[in-house]
Amino acid sequence: MSCDLIALANAGIRGLHPYQAGKPVSELERELGISNVVKLASNENPLGISDKVKQALVSEFTELSRYPDANGFYLKEKLASRLGVESAQITLGNGSNDVLELIARTFVSAEHEVMFAEHAFVVYPLVTQAIGAKPCVVPAKAYGHDLDAMAAAISDKTKMIFIANPNNPTGTFLTKESLKAFIAAVPKDVIVVLDEAYDEYVDASDRANSVEWLNDYPNLVVTRTFSKAYGLAGLRVGYSVSCADMAGLLNRLRQPFNVNSLALKAAEIALDDNEFLHESVSVNRQGMTQLTDFFRQQQINFIPSWGNFVTFDTGRNGSDVYDALLHQGVIVRPIGGYGLPNHLRVSIGTSEENNRFIDALTSVLSL
Ligand SMILES: *Cc1c(COP(=O)(O)O)cnc(C)c1O
Repeated sequence: MSCDLIALANAGIRGLHPYQAGKPVSELERELGISNVVKLASNENPLGISDKVKQALVSEFTELSRYPDANGFYLKEKLASRLGVESAQITLGNGSNDVLELIARTFVSAEHEVMFAEHAFVVYPLVTQAIGAKPCVVPAKAYGHDLDAMAAAISDKTKMIFIANPNNPTGTFLTKESLKAFIAAVPKDVIVVLDEAYDEYVDASDRANSVEWLNDYPNLVVTRTFSKAYGLAGLRVGYSVSCADMAGLLNRLRQPFNVNSLALKAAEIALDDNEFLHESVSVNRQGMTQLTDFFRQQQINFIPSWGNFVTFDTGRNGSDVYDALLHQGVIVRPIGGYGLPNHLRVSIGTSEENNRFIDALTSVLSL
């Protein structure tokens, strides 16, 4: 007997498209029978994993027969003391992606609207669609969030607002003053999710002390990750900071062992490895200069970025350029799905990786 499983699925799920991840190195090597592929597609840390973390992980192997600490006690303690908050304000996740979804599922249901900006991080429309809520997409200003337009678009139905600062894939950044004024203007029954996945790359003088704002705004939640500057993308660990009441709600829905023991241990050690973090940020700064100098020289338009990636205009169909770069062994990220069909996003690599990208793009665009 045949059965239309698609028709059986929840309406929200029927309209979903799977997340398009950056192409894995092994996949391209397998497909093209080549080696020495450079992946600059997923905003990963080009320095890899820190040596200190590596050592700590080896000693954690013997513990793998046990369930992880469901409460992530030590990591939460460490984060709390670093951030100047209580442990009870931290929620750990299997990547910050997990926390973003937890937050949405905790507060949003099908009758609500969820607001985010055009070209904003794809997970916001994905979770909105999965819940069956209505997206409210506010047109971007200069590729970034238009906070005035977003404030004006808030209605009785708005339940949640997602803001990525810096934003991915555009790299745009909101000043702390503009962001704070926006949060102050949002009604207290609307949850504001401030996604700071790239916070560590922002200059200290520009960085918002958003965690301090939590004292005034119980409807605010800040998310961060160990996937980018801390170099732990493969282990999947991120967190949110909020008022303790909100963290308590998230904890009701959270899977008990959503962060594995290797990830908990690695994140703890990574938090103390300032040297590795500084090196990562410094390599990023140099790479950013290397790539943007090249774009300027070649008169390739790019969007100024505060993250560890740059989005540039290929001046033609971006996915054709993407395919041609793949044949040169360089993986970047097409972002047609973000409404930017002519743009590509390239993650900042080591200087050698950046050079491989520069050479490949030069050849593909016949510069
Ligand atoms: C990479 C990224 C994340 C989260 O990644 P995780 O690996 O799930 O922590 C969240 N938000 C933005 C904007 C990102 O680019």
